[in-house]
Amino acid sequence: MPGHYLSKSKILSGWQCQKRLWLEIHDPDKAEVSAATERAFQVGHRVGDVARHLFPDGHLIGHDDSLDDALEETRTRLAEPGPLTLFEATLRHEGVLVRTDVLIRDELDRIRLVEVKASTSVKPVNYIDCAVQAWVLAGAGLHPTTVELAHVNNQFVYPGDDDYLGLLTFVDITDRIAPMLEHVPAWVTTNREMLAGPMPAIDIGPHCRDPYECAFLPFCTPPQPDYPVSALPGGKKVVWDLLAAGIHDIRDIPADRLTSEVQQWVRRVTIDGRPDLNASAAAALADLPWPRYYFDFETVAFPVPVWAGTRPYQALPFQWSCHVQTRDGTLVHREWLGTSDGPPMRECGETLIEALGDTGPIFVYTGYEAGRLKDLAAMFPDLAPALEGIRGRLFDLHPLTKASYYHPDMLGSWSIKAVLPTVAAGMDYGGLGTIQEGAAASDAFVELMDRDTDPGRRDEIRADLLRYCACDTLALVRLAAFLAGRPG
Ligand code: SF4
Repeated sequence: MPGHYLSKSKILSGWQCQKRLWLEIHDPDKAEVSAATERAFQVGHRVGDVARHLFPDGHLIGHDDSLDDALEETRTRLAEPGPLTLFEATLRHEGVLVRTDVLIRDELDRIRLVEVKASTSVKPVNYIDCAVQAWVLAGAGLHPTTVELAHVNNQFVYPGDDDYLGLLTFVDITDRIAPMLEHVPAWVTTNREMLAGPMPAIDIGPHCRDPYECAFLPFCTPPQPDYPVSALPGGKKVVWDLLAAGIHDIRDIPADRLTSEVQQWVRRVTIDGRPDLNASAAAALADLPWPRYYFDFETVAFPVPVWAGTRPYQALPFQWSCHVQTRDGTLVHREWLGTSDGPPMRECGETLIEALGDTGPIFVYTGYEAGRLKDLAAMFPDLAPALEGIRGRLFDLHPLTKASYYHPDMLGSWSIKAVLPTVAAGMDYGGLGTIQEGAAASDAFVELMDRDTDPGRRDEIRADLLRYCACDTLALVRLAAFLAGRPG
């Protein structure tokens, strides 16, 4: 591959899948980067920014647009005697190029390499990542004395005032990667030889999402039947086995091929072509008192906390919606959305306590709301008795739905977004505009918080958020009515 550097990230791509690396080099336009992957990049940058503040004497080797300049500046800085700390130090060895998150040389010329990750633990791929960097450093004459992985400490509680000491946990992985170093040249050679040939013939499989979701999945995925076996719920091994056996459609799976009861149910209902609703669902709902509440939170989670007293990745409620239904079917909607002026959690707790009253079941979908109520109770002990009372009234429709209802169009999913169109004709999330799922709602709230967001855009975001959350609770109203066998 004359003229091309093989970067650390490319070697990692090749480690995940040789075809992925081949496509990244020879046909990158085939990639479709998902919103989740974009978010992961942004999170990584944010954590990296904070990491730099933990090394106040550090110097950033910039030159993102010119690797030659980055290499030259790194060389120049390292040639100066004495201790130094560099961010994005850029080094090359045998055509492999790395940019290190933090490179520290102390007064005894010991080299400390720190790789910063936004994850909350060390993952196997991190060892490969650091081994490649350490190998390049050694090849460039900088034998690392220690190699560390700095990951986010999710038990860190932010004290405020930009004090992020303790946000990162530093794990010494020097000994763990030492035996890997001798293998790096073989990884490099294998990748180079592969890149000189045609695109490897590799089918999609578990490796396409492990350790990272591959951006070439849409390109590699063959045209799917209406009911693909990949939609089978539960363990995916059976899916890969079916695909390997040439079975692509759930309706073509032999009756004795599935051992899981839920997979057998999905297969049976899909072949029948008609939804299956067990009467036990109506029985479970029949005697519940009125009024009935249908409740949902929206939350935001910051890898780097922005509000004092919160932890990295803690799900913090900033909005709720509640539909209240009386026995005669009358429906009243209540809602609350935090402003962008400060932590919304306390007001969120106070307003929902007022809205949810003292009696009546509160329908939710999954245990997520219970978890957030528990968090709020821990944050605000004076609200805890009321919040715990509310938690005790929750009725989770998810397990009931999962145990009693399946429609072929749900394609193996009991998410509310999969269930809703099958129980309430004309109701789905597709017509909601820019916010159609929780992660987008969270992103929208972050944009709302940004003081640079103009007033017109803020109004638009607020309207979209309110519409989205209201749709979530109206979906619960419709679902409960459907399960109970009565009009919504
Ligand atoms: S989608 Fe899967 S098979 Fe295709 S390049 Fe990516 S990892 Fe390889």
